[in-house]
Amino acid sequence: MLDSCGRTINYLRISITDRCNLRCRFCMPEGGVDNIPHKEILRYEEILEVTRAAAELGIDRYRISGGEPLLRRGVESFLQELANQEGTNRVSLTTNGLLLADKVDVLAKAGLNAVNVSLDSLNEKRLKRLCGGGSPTQIIKGIDAAIKASLKVKVNTVLLRPVLSELAEFITFSEERQVPIRFIEFMPLDQETASRTGEEVVPVPELVAALEQLGTLVTEKGPEGCGPSRYFRLAERKATIGIISALSSPFCDTCNRIRLTADGRLKPCLASPVEIDVKSAIRSGATGEEIKKLIRQTIEAKPKAHQLADGEKPQRSMCKIGG
Ligand code: SAM
Ligand code: SF4
Repeated sequence: MLDSCGRTINYLRISITDRCNLRCRFCMPEGGVDNIPHKEILRYEEILEVTRAAAELGIDRYRISGGEPLLRRGVESFLQELANQEGTNRVSLTTNGLLLADKVDVLAKAGLNAVNVSLDSLNEKRLKRLCGGGSPTQIIKGIDAAIKASLKVKVNTVLLRPVLSELAEFITFSEERQVPIRFIEFMPLDQETASRTGEEVVPVPELVAALEQLGTLVTEKGPEGCGPSRYFRLAERKATIGIISALSSPFCDTCNRIRLTADGRLKPCLASPVEIDVKSAIRSGATGEEIKKLIRQTIEAKPKAHQLADGEKPQRSMCKIGG
């Protein structure tokens, strides 16, 4: 379906949980977040009611996210149902990778096409400081298992100051495995993470300058389904480097997505405070047509561009929206 700016909307990002086994300082407020009570979380059958209606409006690709999506029981069979649903073209997943090694073969068999894995440091101590836990060894085990299972893999790193000291290692990592490494500009979605992370945020030009210290940067065509990332490589090297700069060079003109939160709210844009309550509609017995109407309203509410740089706030931290 086209939105009011003429953009084709064919992509739904689904958060299946707000729970997480990490506490990344750029994503969660200091004391963590209050978990949404289980009964308020959409059941898988309810999510599938939304995706069936979405498919009729032209949505054909889905990303499962969270919180940490691999923590939710039954994700494998949910994914299989979604992948087999009429109209589904691609299902991908965003994960912190800690549980990936154990689950990836089943997920691949269930129909998963691609996985984005967050790896915010290659250094054990630094990762623990940034993310409140985790182990690069375990995450890399998951990445290697996903590559072995023939999934399309991308590695995501939020662009904070400590990353600059690991650039050369990240490039070697990408080169050795032939997976793109993407640096994501920090997005200030809530006040607390924004002020906590403030001094550590690296402006994109500083990243580019640091990369240029390592070699000549050449623009590259991204891999299939490259979404909002701009891609580069270093001349003479084989690493693919992505930069996602939602704040400093927004990609709103080509945005093709809407979102569904774990507690059943449709969101037209990550940054927008607008939320449309599809859960109450489903729980009061809404028909497919009525759910389609809410999805249409969400698509129609998509702003021309986000206003994050001017202080727009979605009133939820990233882990509660599903980044
Ligand atoms: N737990 C999974 C993970 O970490 O990959 C999925 C959910 S997480 C919210 C999705 C993505 O959002 C991750 O790549 C994470 O690094 C990114 N993210 C979280 N907070 C962010 C922020 N404030 N700015 C930019 N990206 C952020
Ligand atoms: Fe959890 Fe992912 Fe947020 Fe880190 S970025 S706290 S792993 S949801």
